[in-house]
Amino acid sequence: MADDQTDRHAWLVPGAFEVAPGVHRIPLPLPMDGLRAVNVYAIETGGGLVMIDSGWALEVAERQLEQALGAIGYEFGDIQRFLVTHIHRDHYTLAISLRRVYGTKVALGIGEQPSLERTMTRRLDGQARQMVRWGAEPLVKRWAETFGEREGGGDRYEEPDEWLDGTTAIDVGDRTLTAVPTPGHTLGHVVFVDERAGVLFAGDHVLPNITPSIGFQPEPAKLPLRDYLDSLHLVRSYPDLRLLPAHGPVTASTHARVDELLAHHEERLAESLGAVRDGAATAYEAARRLGWTRRHTSFDDLDLFNQTLAAGETAAHLDVLVLRGELSSSSVDGAGGLVEYRLTQPPAS
Ligand SMILES: [Zn+2]
Repeated sequence: MADDQTDRHAWLVPGAFEVAPGVHRIPLPLPMDGLRAVNVYAIETGGGLVMIDSGWALEVAERQLEQALGAIGYEFGDIQRFLVTHIHRDHYTLAISLRRVYGTKVALGIGEQPSLERTMTRRLDGQARQMVRWGAEPLVKRWAETFGEREGGGDRYEEPDEWLDGTTAIDVGDRTLTAVPTPGHTLGHVVFVDERAGVLFAGDHVLPNITPSIGFQPEPAKLPLRDYLDSLHLVRSYPDLRLLPAHGPVTASTHARVDELLAHHEERLAESLGAVRDGAATAYEAARRLGWTRRHTSFDDLDLFNQTLAAGETAAHLDVLVLRGELSSSSVDGAGGLVEYRLTQPPAS
């Protein structure tokens, strides 16, 4: 089947789509409105398959994966290994449920270890402490009200068989993938480079149509946007490759998209600085002054989950402005408590 990209939603159509010789893109459903689907990639090795990411452990996703593999002549038992880009449940959890049945090996970036530990032991207070730091008390209150209705999902998580540590070469049949740590979206995010095939398995690090969330994870990162921008520059230092993202269609150029993402964050840094100049003192106050999503939705029109992401993103931008010397903050080490920001240079009158 050809990979039809003419329509914006064409990438959601179920199936297995060959995007490079022996590499198949398989979209799987997600139970949220926003993202709609996650792409997993099946790589033929001669003796079976290696998968990049697995999908969310949902019955409907498992069935759709089974059908897609069937269409290219494989079944679950043929999967030799899952290489997972990061810990988020739409990437990691189906690998864990399939391992329980088939014994499939699962690999994950070592930077995810603290977040995995927190998830498995249900120590999920890290985000709440972060919200206090952002001045987002109203969000803490609303999360507390909904707490208990939301399933923690700790039982979906187990340790991987293998931790990917540093930049590593991985043999997959007769090809070699390079696992490259790209912290930012999460602390342990990893992308996989196949230079010979000219493709990048980008996970959520570089997405074609949306900007990935920054640092949403159980173990808070100190400077997630600084990490993320560094990781974008790192990917930019590899040859220009076809972008095989976890969400959205396959596109022609990693370099082109990385450049757009870098420009986007410079713009957001300028807007965040502007929000402080206009009187916002905390990340939460600044977030409420900014527009969100491509449509510049107001903060109050976002749901609780997206308001939390938005406040966190704003904090990440303000912290980079502190790092650049454009802002100063009441607490530089992020060691708990509310953080307030102010201009290092008073505004010209
Ligand atoms: Zn994702």
